[in-house]
Amino acid sequence: MNFYPQSVLKLIEEFSKLPGVGSKTAQRLAFHILNIDMEQAEKLASAIVEAKKNIRYCSVCGNLSDSDLCPICKNDARDSNLICVVQEPRDVIAMEKTREFKGLYHVLHGAISPLGGVGPDDIRLKELLSRINSETKEIIIATNPNVEGEATAMYIARLLKPLGVRVTRIAHGVPVGGDLEYADEVTLTKALEGRREI
Ligand SMILES: [Zn+2]
Repeated sequence: MNFYPQSVLKLIEEFSKLPGVGSKTAQRLAFHILNIDMEQAEKLASAIVEAKKNIRYCSVCGNLSDSDLCPICKNDARDSNLICVVQEPRDVIAMEKTREFKGLYHVLHGAISPLGGVGPDDIRLKELLSRINSETKEIIIATNPNVEGEATAMYIARLLKPLGVRVTRIAHGVPVGGDLEYADEVTLTKALEGRREI
């Protein structure tokens, strides 16, 4: 590694901190960057800084947004009485790709995991409760089909039952143990259609 000039070494080091990037890929990416022209390099650098500066979480649903309300919460054509609960912002994108869901989302930013030390207070459950009113038609729980996702779904179902709101869970077209974001659109659409009451 010490054959590299200091600034190249630094670039490789930063790339290797990214998820799924090993040292070989980090080196390849660094050499790629050294080969692109200055304008392209500046575009890449400013895209990273701009995204970090501008992106925040929607104050209602917790989705990624570049303003106080995300485009989905802002959209009057969406059914605000139907809320789909997901674990992460990337799950919203997976659901949106199906083009089947016309309601709003609620991003928990995690799942209950007693072993991982994540309790109900550590995810956005209070915020979910505060969104439910007499107009709410259905809460669709689309947490991941693994132990944490199931535990979270059951917890939410028990939490909401006294409020008399209909709570459903998407069907298991999504592979058990898998992540929602990796399910293809057809599978996710079927899972949404086949949801059952819990
Ligand atoms: Zn939102």
